[in-house]
Amino acid sequence: MQSLIAGNWKMFKTVREAELFARRLVAELDIPPGREVVIAPAFPALCAVAAALRGSAIKLAAQNVHDQAQGAFTGEVSAGMLIDAGCEYVIIGHSERRTFPGETDDLIGRKLLAALAQGLRPILCIGETLAEREQGATFTVITGQIKEGLKNVALGDIGDAVIAYEPVWAIGTGKTATPEQAQEVHAFIRNTIEDAYGKELAGKLRIIYGGSVNSGNIGKLMSEKDINGALVGGASLDIESFSAIVKY
Ligand code: PEP
Repeated sequence: MQSLIAGNWKMFKTVREAELFARRLVAELDIPPGREVVIAPAFPALCAVAAALRGSAIKLAAQNVHDQAQGAFTGEVSAGMLIDAGCEYVIIGHSERRTFPGETDDLIGRKLLAALAQGLRPILCIGETLAEREQGATFTVITGQIKEGLKNVALGDIGDAVIAYEPVWAIGTGKTATPEQAQEVHAFIRNTIEDAYGKELAGKLRIIYGGSVNSGNIGKLMSEKDINGALVGGASLDIESFSAIVKY
């Protein structure tokens, strides 16, 4: 299984900054074998970054998608448009989207289906808040997010998806889950997928970790059996730190 290192640039970088970053990454980053690298700029920079990445092994992701194929939805972007712009992946259900625009598990599930229908590979983000962890509700929350998020996803499509476990208390806070804490939840996610889709598919599904990943903690996280990559926010904005994470 290829491990996946994805950089989520959130609402940072102008088109020019994003394009220059992508050009430098293509020129300077030696990707070790068995690793897949993805970057997710903001919508306006997608086409320029796609052009900069063309011919390289680095893939493009969007940070959000609408659940309808087209229509009168001012300000929204469809999965087909993202494919057209050069995306292979899309991040769906990031905790910042669950919190700020208030995306529900049901909407997230519909977005996932819309992405898969166009051949766009979803990175489904799930994770508990600090209060939920302290109440001992982590596994209940994770189960609900997986069941709703993947509701109606066909057996044949599940392999195109990636699950990102991102404990909300670790995102942008500098507090990383310990490798043991992350592994415990990743193993639970894999078991949940196994129950729904069978052992073979569960064994192939990539479950990546996100939450204050940096060049200092990535190695230990990646040594855990069920951690198949990382979704990196803050540390992906700097080329040296992102490159070091890719080469963990
Ligand atoms: C993220 O945005 O998905 C994320 C994990 O952010 P950070 O690495 O900054 O915690």
